[in-house]
Amino acid sequence: MTTLPFPHIDSAPRTQLYIDGTWCNSAGGRRLQVVNPSTEAVIAEVEAGSAADVDIAVRAAANAFPAWKATTGARRAALLHAIARGVEARRDVLAALQSRNNGKPLAEAQIDVSDVVATFDYYADLAAQLDDTAESAVALPSSDYRAVIRREPAGVVALIVPWNFPMVTTAWKLAPALAAGCTVVLKPSEVTPLPELELAAIVAEAGLPSGVFNVVTGTGVDVGAPLAAHPRVAKVSFTGSTGVGEQVMKTAAETIKGVSLELGGKSSIVVFADADLDLAVELVAGGGFFNAGQMCSATSRVVVERPVADALVARLAERAKQLVVGDPFQPGVQMGPLTNRAQYERVQRYIAQGKADGAREVIEGSVPPGPGYFVRPTIFVEVAADSVVWREEIFGPVLCVRAFDTEDEAIGIANDTDFGLVATVVTRDSTRAKRVADALEAGVVWVNAPQAIFPQTSWGGYKRSSIGRELGPFGLAAFQEIKQVLSAVEAV
Ligand code: NAD
Repeated sequence: MTTLPFPHIDSAPRTQLYIDGTWCNSAGGRRLQVVNPSTEAVIAEVEAGSAADVDIAVRAAANAFPAWKATTGARRAALLHAIARGVEARRDVLAALQSRNNGKPLAEAQIDVSDVVATFDYYADLAAQLDDTAESAVALPSSDYRAVIRREPAGVVALIVPWNFPMVTTAWKLAPALAAGCTVVLKPSEVTPLPELELAAIVAEAGLPSGVFNVVTGTGVDVGAPLAAHPRVAKVSFTGSTGVGEQVMKTAAETIKGVSLELGGKSSIVVFADADLDLAVELVAGGGFFNAGQMCSATSRVVVERPVADALVARLAERAKQLVVGDPFQPGVQMGPLTNRAQYERVQRYIAQGKADGAREVIEGSVPPGPGYFVRPTIFVEVAADSVVWREEIFGPVLCVRAFDTEDEAIGIANDTDFGLVATVVTRDSTRAKRVADALEAGVVWVNAPQAIFPQTSWGGYKRSSIGRELGPFGLAAFQEIKQVLSAVEAV
């Protein structure tokens, strides 16, 4: 049994919907159970929202939109900074809720909280700049006209997020949406609503006008689909699986609303023979086992130059063996359970499939006895390029290794996928690193670096991984409409 550092979370987790400035029950009165993946115990029940709740929330957001759009960037900035400070003040509660609901080690949950703080502070600064930058003059080839381009908030936006990085994926959407002047209906994953509802409480307490920010918990079918379909929603920003993203895009197409999609991945880490092998092992392990491999950005394909392939696999196996898997609240634990039973079963099926397809399997480390969705770190070697485990996103602590002989072959192997989210290159040769980074079809390339993500940069991928980009100025632009106002000079 996990010992909670914050016992009050057990007794009074926030569970209601937040609509129009009020915590309320769902229209249908149904509830969903929330499970701790380390113990498989039910730890809370949350409201199971429906299309009726979505409609009430969207209308509240639509009513709040004109006034929120009219606020200054400076005012919105002050509120976003207030949210960041609120998150900081409740850092330990938020981290504990994440570990308890998602299963990630407490140290990883703390990293997520820091990311949330940095994201709100960054978009607060961009909001403040909007007072000067939202409107800009355009030089025209005619003196008869004057033109300005304005960036305006898109309207009511639906934010639909997954369970692997619940608060981070929310912050990457919520902060720029509010900064831009949009009003929001957030749908957390039904698997991990608890940290999201705590984050919602902080946002609520920051003093946003009623209706600007709304949260409807529930399933994808009952809440996500009606949100994507709602005619008053101007834009859907979705992070989740590629299959559901496709569904969201089809639904949004019926009312011609904009979509931003952050979907799956099957990314490579390319290790050249000249690489620092200690660094390579760290980077491969980080890209494969962080968050128990449940990362859209998992570099689960290890593409290694043949002369160092055996050495790298041997050291990876050793690293996997040393990985401490267990209760996310125990000090020293480096990997928790998978976040839900469905994912656990899915990963077990992939491991069985990998074996059936003839890949050589290196399973190392141990998992705690008893309940919990724990999976041992698994490495498949000699994996066929057309095999299921090589081609499909597994979303668990499973690495697949293939060796290469030439740089071109490595690039070809890395790019031979329907996805294109991220890639990592490990080499001491900076000229080659640049060449390979240029050739990789991925939205993010890390060179000799861990998966560090700064809100100032960009997030998103090529091909079936994404439509649009989050973070940086791109993340803000995703929630803006562009309007030109052209005036005849004489008539003015
Ligand atoms: P998922 O697609 O099952 O669910 C994501 C969200 O969509 C949940 O809130 C879910 O309730 C909702 N949903 C489900 N059906 C819906 C429907 N028909 N209409 C509208 N909403 C619906 O994904 P998941 O299992 O929660 O998350 C794992 C996936 O997320 C992985 O594929 C991973 O790669 C991806 N992901 C991508 C990024 C990225 O930045 N590219 C980041 C994190 C996770």
